[in-house]
Amino acid sequence: MIKDCSGKLEGVTETPVLEVLLIVSRVLGIRKEDLFLKDLVVSPTEEKRILKLVEKRASGYPLHYILGEKEFMGLSLLVEEGVFVPRPETEELVELALELIRKYGIKAVADIGTGSGAIGVSVAKFSDVVVFATDVSSKAVEVARKNAERHGVSDRFFVRKGEFLEPFKEKFASIEMILSNPPYVKSSAHLPKDVLFEPAEALFGGEDGLDFYREFFGRYNTSGKIVLMEIGEDQVEELKKIVSDAVFLKDSAGKYRFLFLNRRSS
Ligand code: SAM
Ligand code: GLN
Repeated sequence: MIKDCSGKLEGVTETPVLEVLLIVSRVLGIRKEDLFLKDLVVSPTEEKRILKLVEKRASGYPLHYILGEKEFMGLSLLVEEGVFVPRPETEELVELALELIRKYGIKAVADIGTGSGAIGVSVAKFSDVVVFATDVSSKAVEVARKNAERHGVSDRFFVRKGEFLEPFKEKFASIEMILSNPPYVKSSAHLPKDVLFEPAEALFGGEDGLDFYREFFGRYNTSGKIVLMEIGEDQVEELKKIVSDAVFLKDSAGKYRFLFLNRRSS
C-alpha cells in the first residue's frame, strides 16, 4: 500500500514515502517510529481514509493541513486551513530574537502577524518575556491562542485581532522588541501549488512585496526599540530605500533574510 500511495505523491513532493508514512501514522493514531515495531493491522475503514488523504495530498493540498500540526523550534504547533504553516527559516529569526532577549534583558516583545503563533509562542516558551501578538485573521488568532495553551505560555502570550500593533496601542511604549514574519511575496509571483492553499493575506505583500514594511515604518515610531523582521531574499536593496539605517542579516544558507534595526538608546 505504501508503495502505491507514494507513487501518487511523486510529482508533488520530494519525500513521498515519508509523507505517506506520516499520513498513515496520523490515521492510525501512532507515532511514525512505531509503524515498524509490530505487524500493523489496518482496517478497511482506515485504509479508505489513508487513500483519501493521499489523494488529497496528491492534489497539492499541504501535508501539514492534513496532519494538523507542524514542528517549529522543537514544538508541535497546531495548524489548519486558513493559517500559514511555519517555515524552517523563521526558526532562525526566533534564535536571533532569543539571543537579543538574553543580551539586553528584554521583557516585552511584539509579534505582528503571528499566524499559528510560531514566533510569539516559541519566544515565550524559551525565555521569560511577555508577548503581544496580533493578526488580521480571526482563524490565526484562534489557533495561536490554542498553541499558547498547548505549550503552557498563555499567561505571557496575549493575542488580539487587528492590523500591525493597533490592538495593543496601550502597550506600545512598553514594547522593547518587535518581531514579524510578514507577507512579502510579490503579487505576480508564481508559487508552488501547495503554497497557494495557504491564505493570500499571509503571503502577498502587494506588487513589489513590500507593502507591509512601507506601512509599518510609515505608521510607527520605533525609536528605543529593536525590530527584527523576515524578508524575501531579493528585497534588501528596495528595503534600504524604506529603512535607510536597517542592517540585513543572513540566514544559515547565506542569504539575506532578516531586517534588523537596533534603535535602543543603550
Ligand atoms: N508569524 C507566522 C509564522 O512565521 O509562521 C505567520 C507568518 S505569515 C507569513 C503572515 C501573517 O501575517 C498571516 O497570519 C497574516 O494573516 C498576517 N498579517 C498580514 N498582514 C497583517 C497586518 N497588517 N497586521 C497583522 N497581521 C497581518
Ligand atoms: N517563505 C514563504 C513562501 O514559501 C513566504 C513567507 C512570507 O511571505 N512571509 O512563499
